[in-house]
Amino acid sequence: MAKRRGRNRYAYFAPSMHAGLVEKLDLAEDLRGAIERHELQVYYQPLVDLAGGAIVGAEALVRWTHPEKGPIPPDRFIPVAEETGLILPLGYAVLNTACRAAAAWQHPVPLRISVNLSPRQVQDPAVGLYVRQTLLHSGLPPESLTLEITESLLSEDHEVAASRLAELKALGVRLAVDDFGTGYSSLSRLQSFPIDILKIPKPFVDGVAFGPGQSALARAILDLADALGLQVVAEGIEDAAQAAELRRLGCPIGQGFHFSRAVPAGEFGALLSRGAFAPA
Ligand code: C2E
Ligand code: MG
Ligand code: MG
Ligand code: MG
Repeated sequence: MAKRRGRNRYAYFAPSMHAGLVEKLDLAEDLRGAIERHELQVYYQPLVDLAGGAIVGAEALVRWTHPEKGPIPPDRFIPVAEETGLILPLGYAVLNTACRAAAAWQHPVPLRISVNLSPRQVQDPAVGLYVRQTLLHSGLPPESLTLEITESLLSEDHEVAASRLAELKALGVRLAVDDFGTGYSSLSRLQSFPIDILKIPKPFVDGVAFGPGQSALARAILDLADALGLQVVAEGIEDAAQAAELRRLGCPIGQGFHFSRAVPAGEFGALLSRGAFAPA
């Protein structure tokens, strides 16, 4: 938004800026409608035990097909949802849908469900209450729910985030740091937060099979997790060589197109009953 200048409220937008703003406002308006009409969908990407190939969990990923524009990727509309506050109703809808779906996937073995929480949700005073009620209403055991937070929450020095995360953790859920190492965070803060899992981001997985130089960052995260007693999940695994190398480096769990993309709940259920993938 343009700032007030002096006593006048005039400000000028470059035409391109204006077009961008209008497009964003349009998208926000359409998104608001889509949330109200329950048009957003939740897809599930398997989390795989690299040693045995079994599906041990799923990450819930929101999907939006715009009636005119077709599918819009989350990387485009999540930032808009963040800026407008729509991330709160959107995020809680995803949480609710994912927990209900996962409650049906607890037998014969418990399956873990991961749900992304945006920084704005973590700052919401009601987040603990929402998560607790969602667990109660869905019947999902708290230990089967993992909340994925962004690394930025560990670096910003707001005590709010720290106390909210402690409150969430007290519900019995697990906390994962998404895309660890791509944002700034101080390692000392990592130890003072109740984190359970570090997720190795796709860029660190891309070159993992090309030798020690290219696998250095993935190995660094595995070492750090080992030293701090944290679990690790690698994401963005696209081929068998990456899966095998990650397994060799001691990474227990992975997700990526090599195994499966995110799929609708029905298809995920079918994947589960089909059994394990080939071990890495
Ligand atoms: P993320 O949480 O890091 O999710 C992983 C992203 O990597 C997903 O993209 C997934 O489809 C993609 N991915 C997984 N394996 C592979 C692979 O092997 N190759 C490639 N090229 N990509 C892979 P997606 O679904 O487009 O989501 C993008 C981001 O949008 C997510 O990154 C997350 O930050 C955000 N997001 C998605 N759903 C939600 C949600 O419900 N709430 C919030 N707050 N954010 C969400
Ligand atoms: Mg994630
Ligand atoms: Mg990620
Ligand atoms: Mg990401």
